[in-house]
Amino acid sequence: MSERTLVIIKPDAVAAGNAGKVLTRYEEAGLEIVAMDLRTISGEFSDQHYEEHLERDFYPALREFMTSGPMIPIVLRGEGCIATVREINGATNPANAEPGTIRADFGESGPRNAVHASDSPESAAAEIALWFPGL
Ligand code: ADP
Ligand code: MG
Repeated sequence: MSERTLVIIKPDAVAAGNAGKVLTRYEEAGLEIVAMDLRTISGEFSDQHYEEHLERDFYPALREFMTSGPMIPIVLRGEGCIATVREINGATNPANAEPGTIRADFGESGPRNAVHASDSPESAAAEIALWFPGL
């Protein structure tokens, strides 16, 4: 089934000049770009995006990082793309990410792991509505 997912090229990857290389991975997997923007977000917006993690011990550092500079939110579309994108991204911690994944190649640490992607149809719908209202 064709579905949509929200990806974010995080501030570390944008600052390091890796945005184009990251985007190429998704295009080479045959995924279609539906929407894309360059955006710097507030702490309040980070809280909305990461609502499920607000109480976690790593969240203050994640919030600081996510508000530190511009990032690139993208809506991608394709058959099974929610799972496909999570595979292309690799494990959350770059140290554990499979060779050849985006996080293995461009991630640095826990928060600074280059990319975000929705993890379910429900989170994809909520995240697309948050980042691109009306899309
Ligand atoms: P994912 O981004 O793979 O869906 P999570 O939803 O669990 O991972 O976490 C959201 C983000 O929080 C991660 O992408 C990462 O930037 C950060 N994060 C998660 N776990 C940790 C941790 N133990 N230490 C530092 N940062 C973390
Ligand atoms: Mg997550």
